[in-house]
Amino acid sequence: MTAGLETDVLVVGGGPAGSAAATTLARAGVDVVLVDKARFPRDKCCGDGLTTGALRRLDALGLDPMRVESFTPVESLAVRSEFGRIAHLPLSGNDACKAAVARRRDLDAALLELARGAGATVLEGQGLEALEVEELDGALPGAACTAGLSGGLEVRSRYVVAADGAWSKVRAQLAVGQAPRVRGGRVLEGDWHAYRAYVTGVSSGASERLWVWFDPALLPGYAWSFPLAGGVANVGICVRRTAGVSGAALASAWRDELEGPFLSSLLGGDAALEAPAKSWPIPSGIDRVVVAARGGRVLYVGDAAYAADPFTGEGIAQALETGTECAEAIIDHGATSPERVGASYREQVRASLALEHRLSRVLSSIVAAPLGARGAVRVVGLNAWTRRNAGRWLYEDVRRTIPLTPRRWRRGALRLPTPYPRVERVEPPVSRG
Ligand SMILES: Cc1cc2nc3c(=O)[nH]c(=O)nc-3n(C[C@H](O)[C@H](O)[C@H](O)COP(=O)(O)OP(=O)(O)OC[C@H]3O[C@@H](n4cnc5c(N)ncnc54)[C@H](O)[C@@H]3O)c2cc1C
Repeated sequence: MTAGLETDVLVVGGGPAGSAAATTLARAGVDVVLVDKARFPRDKCCGDGLTTGALRRLDALGLDPMRVESFTPVESLAVRSEFGRIAHLPLSGNDACKAAVARRRDLDAALLELARGAGATVLEGQGLEALEVEELDGALPGAACTAGLSGGLEVRSRYVVAADGAWSKVRAQLAVGQAPRVRGGRVLEGDWHAYRAYVTGVSSGASERLWVWFDPALLPGYAWSFPLAGGVANVGICVRRTAGVSGAALASAWRDELEGPFLSSLLGGDAALEAPAKSWPIPSGIDRVVVAARGGRVLYVGDAAYAADPFTGEGIAQALETGTECAEAIIDHGATSPERVGASYREQVRASLALEHRLSRVLSSIVAAPLGARGAVRVVGLNAWTRRNAGRWLYEDVRRTIPLTPRRWRRGALRLPTPYPRVERVEPPVSRG
């Protein structure tokens, strides 16, 4: 006989999207079970960069950055064109922490603890293997969803939140609402594909600020080096995966960048890889996929909803945002109507991210050409005003679409709450080699 559990909401996946959803639901008194196939702390292939937008959402969730071991506040971003023009963009102000880097191993474990502390039942090391959703008459919110987990447990729930990342098993299981570029549940064409490695013993240039640079071989993608305490940097490349770009071509682009003159000189002669690089897709373009399925009973969030930004590939803020929005839709309508849950979540996503994603695609097409990328670095570096505001805009201290949405031009629209006032950076001993 199969062991069973019944709950209001089953959240599949304990990354930022799943933890944000489970924390918000549990705090509102909703019975929630979160399952993840991994045991935490676990690594997640990521650049580990936290924008002002992400920090604001972490702060709103009540995450204490001091509980995230590798949390490293950063105060400036250097953007470099292929010809070596560098724009230094300040990312500080009002005594607030506007940018940070934190290993996902640490960040995600702290977020999962937050969900547990809020009252969610968290089951680690138990992957979703099968999911069935019954068609219930009258759209009543009965326990229509039955999930089979790898440990043999069966979970029945009224709602399923799919927070299971880029290769979402929930999306594949239900084979619903797949975008044209998804084949057999696999994310392929049009999405970002990124490589990441941790490098120890880096130079002071690399350990003081965030670096992003354009290389013609990667456009509209880019390369980055993000500083962590102790002389460590998170280094990577982000490439648009199109029909003609094979896995071998991506691997060779990564090797070329790693051994290239700019990165070698930035990291310095003592730099060494902490471990081999990892690669992973970043599905982006939430306006092109189904985010609520099966009459509103199954809701997709974070990477499973293609929520990452199509211009930058940034996805942590968007995972937190969609996780929270989907939880709010369940809190507001879950007891009365799954269809209203689905409609309300769809509407929230449209209002918060769909326009941002359309703008990001336009920006991405501008920097796709070397001339566009060169022009962009020149424009943002023009003077102190452009540097300060480009930093705020890029790091989501303001909504990126604010120049396009006059209805938001009201007093205070540019002054969103400042996250984490006065977080001090703690320097652990330098690790070399
Ligand atoms: C190389 C790289 C660099 C990036 N850099 C940045 C950056 O600097 N800043 C930024 O904001 N974003 C960045 N991103 C994007 C960011 O990593 C993602 O958008 C973000 O992790 C999405 O969070 P999530 O919670 O939706 O999914 P995830 O973080 O992927 O979490 C999904 C969870 O689901 C679990 N899971 C999967 N399948 C199952 C299953 N069948 N059953 C149960 N559990 C399951 C997984 O174990 C995992 O814990 C980067 C991505 C890549 C690949």
